[in-house]
Amino acid sequence: MKQPSDVIVNMKRSGIREIFDRANQIPGAIHLEMGEPDFPTPEHIREAAARAAEEGHTKYTPNAGIDELREAVAQKLRARNGIDVTAGQVVVTPGAIAALYGTVMALCNAGDEILISDPAWPNYSMLAGLQEVGVTRYPMRPENGMQPKAEDIEPLITDRTKILLINSPCNPTGTVIDRDHLTELLQLAEEHDLWVISDEVYDEMTFDSVPVVSPTTLGVAERIISVFSLSKTYAMTGWRVGYAAAPPELTPFLIKTQEPVTACVNAPAQKAAVAALTGPQDCVEEMRAAYESRRDGVIRILESAGVPYVRPSGAFYIWIDISNSGKRATDFAWELLEEHHVAVTPGGAFGPASDGYVRVSLASAAELLNEGTSRLVAALSAAG
Ligand code: PLP
Repeated sequence: MKQPSDVIVNMKRSGIREIFDRANQIPGAIHLEMGEPDFPTPEHIREAAARAAEEGHTKYTPNAGIDELREAVAQKLRARNGIDVTAGQVVVTPGAIAALYGTVMALCNAGDEILISDPAWPNYSMLAGLQEVGVTRYPMRPENGMQPKAEDIEPLITDRTKILLINSPCNPTGTVIDRDHLTELLQLAEEHDLWVISDEVYDEMTFDSVPVVSPTTLGVAERIISVFSLSKTYAMTGWRVGYAAAPPELTPFLIKTQEPVTACVNAPAQKAAVAALTGPQDCVEEMRAAYESRRDGVIRILESAGVPYVRPSGAFYIWIDISNSGKRATDFAWELLEEHHVAVTPGGAFGPASDGYVRVSLASAAELLNEGTSRLVAALSAAG
């Protein structure tokens, strides 16, 4: 029998999933590993999907999405993100994952390189690897407030570097990249003729009124592909709706990548997305406020035990420094799961330089979060 392809055989699974799979076998385990909102999709969005199916919106749609949704997205991007974009530049994708995969596909040949932070959401390097695109990691350091620095990135650029990927608010650190750092990154991209993928899936999840600046508003829009999602903002992870806003010259290529792979996002989900973007937005604020108050609860527990962490300004994660345990985060997280029945994600899942940290997701009810964090703190002090 001939063997499956090398790329798929060699693809390392996400460390988040590995922990999740094991935690599911432990009855009563507290799940703080998944980045999935614990809220249900708001009712008016569910109703819109049901109505769409009932009314016969059940066929293939154009590859780029239905006009009504592309228009709603463009309006949202103009009004809420300040991005000057037309509906024609919007491509609706099966989740932001597909927008990211399609953008790398549209831009890179095998052997090209992409710059990804360490730490970063694991799927970036997985999807690059599937396309035989080389991954180079750039650091985000606590002493710089986890802000990516152009001076750290510049020496890593080679003739094959095609894309600089940035993610703000960041999964896993919760960092919101500020205007000055963004400006420097965009200058770097301009100087070295790089494309920029800006992953903004947590654009509406910020704390302490920290402003999120969309890189496209700072210039060089012609080299930026901005990627968004409905998954987190509207608790719609299972619906699989995301979108990219791309420069006009690139949009046709991005659309083309969808044709042989997914064709389009499922039609009722697109109608649900229209309802989400154009309907009442108080559900977004309610969820955001809940994440912020949960964050404050976790911070209180960490502070009272003197455990170092990165204070998140956005997304819904806390990045906790467990290096005082004297263990690698991978060992610490597995022991925490097996012995204390709390699942967190070891930092090594987000990058080779990040295994002194674990990521706790705020997407669980406050009582579970507080109990899980208290057990983590106890395990840390027992080890330290
Ligand atoms: N980008 C980041 C940083 C994420 O954390 C996630 C999901 O966890 C995604 C993209 C994917 O989102 P979607 O559900 O829209 O594919």
